[in-house]
Amino acid sequence: MDLGGHRFFSKDERVMKWWFSIFAPQGKPSLDDKLLNRKSPLISGGPDPETQDDVFLVRKRISRIYYKKTFFDYPLLLSFKTMYNLGIFTLTQAGISYLISCVHKRPETSLENFYINRFGKKLYSMFFESYTEKLWGRHPKDISADWGAQRVKGLSVLAVLKDLAQRVFHTQPKHKETSLIEEFYYPKYGPGQLWTAVADKITAQGGQVLYNHPVTGLTRQGEHLTGVICNGKEIPADVIISSMPIKDLVTALPQSPEPVKEVAQHLPYRDFVTVGLLVDKLALTNNTAVHTFNNQVPDCWIYVQDSQVKMGRIQVFNNWSPYMVKEVQNTVWLGLEYFCNERDEFWNMPEEKCISQAMEELKKIGVISDNTRILAAHREHVQKAYPAYFDSYANIRTVTDYLNQFDNLYCIGRNGQHRYNNMDHSMGTAFETVQNLLNGRTDKSNIWNVNTEKSYHESK
Ligand SMILES: Cc1cc2nc3c(=O)[nH]c(=O)nc-3n(C[C@H](O)[C@H](O)[C@H](O)COP(=O)(O)OP(=O)(O)OC[C@H]3O[C@@H](n4cnc5c(N)ncnc54)[C@H](O)[C@@H]3O)c2cc1C
Repeated sequence: MDLGGHRFFSKDERVMKWWFSIFAPQGKPSLDDKLLNRKSPLISGGPDPETQDDVFLVRKRISRIYYKKTFFDYPLLLSFKTMYNLGIFTLTQAGISYLISCVHKRPETSLENFYINRFGKKLYSMFFESYTEKLWGRHPKDISADWGAQRVKGLSVLAVLKDLAQRVFHTQPKHKETSLIEEFYYPKYGPGQLWTAVADKITAQGGQVLYNHPVTGLTRQGEHLTGVICNGKEIPADVIISSMPIKDLVTALPQSPEPVKEVAQHLPYRDFVTVGLLVDKLALTNNTAVHTFNNQVPDCWIYVQDSQVKMGRIQVFNNWSPYMVKEVQNTVWLGLEYFCNERDEFWNMPEEKCISQAMEELKKIGVISDNTRILAAHREHVQKAYPAYFDSYANIRTVTDYLNQFDNLYCIGRNGQHRYNNMDHSMGTAFETVQNLLNGRTDKSNIWNVNTEKSYHESK
């Protein structure tokens, strides 16, 4: 399944080089840029997306926060527009609370304190508190600061101020905080296209990709794994590189000690329901300088901060790739994202009811109006979309130390390491694993250390 909303950017040269050997970035304008007379960021000699499919579009990252029917830059940019939107009273409150947070640093024992230390209490309460609770189903004070350290990295009011200064004085930034990256690569038909191309390559080189083979068991001789059990049959293995959720891996491993099982079984995840709606028009006004079809909003995705609706984000697929929408000039494919827990009320809701809630919520916050026509609708469930950082996560070392004892087991990826890794970091863990295998390195610390550095800068 293709979730669509996956932007791709990495500072890891290995990852970029590898992708570019499969898909090259566009050398000619994409359909929308051409029709709208927009400037495309082109790579000399690159393929023409109008005639070729294996191509990375180079997209402008436009994604904003939608809060109380007003758009704010994401991440919060200190522009005159932001100040105007906040109003003088709120702006003063935000400024004072930020200054307080500078002199009175809180111990970073929770995600709440992590945010307040970087943004001040006022901005935290407006833009992070309820969104975080929507995303995780927990208040930020009950979530480990590790999540912030991995996802928000060096982003803070200070980073935002630096970015503003660099824009004003046109100085070339030596690096940019992860969340401020403004361009990204996107396959013509969405991220699933990347992995279909990779699977084809593996097959063409004589490898085998087995679909619908869930691993339910592993076989072992002491601390050496000998195979996996899929669909009731054992497949022998010399090396096992696992990206299955740690929780399931431990369940599948026979004779795991009770304390390890206890921690693994209580590792938390956040699940995800996405509702796709094809509409004829949006009720939002494009007040940006970016030229779009029918003057629709230019955002790839929009963060919905309002606590009065359950939806957390809205994807506008037209803006990711014009090739993903059949009638890109006259219709808009939206992807509404709902964070929930597997088998909770929202997860179990009948599809029609879920779609009708999605439509009502869009109307409530002014994204569509009563006149909007819904042309198609679809719902998808995604299990374990987000590895979470609470409950038994604090004791995850008990599990990872145990798993590291197996000489031929390598845990990689997002749920495979229970770490909020993006695609590039997930791939980085695979690259490190292969290096270890080629070099005969037995210590796995380099694999676990991907995406643990405190300040991750995307400079390329
Ligand atoms: C909503 C959303 C938006 C995202 N946006 C971005 C983005 O914009 N940019 C970005 O870089 N990253 C993004 N990510 C993160 C990115 O999707 C992950 O980092 C990446 O997919 C992780 O790769 P992986 O191989 O570890 O796991 P996955 O892609 O989840 O692959 C794991 C595979 O293992 C299979 N599996 C699980 N259990 C078993 C089992 N027991 N036996 C056999 N197979 C099993 C699963 O079916 C799955 O196919 C996003 C993630 C989500 C959920």
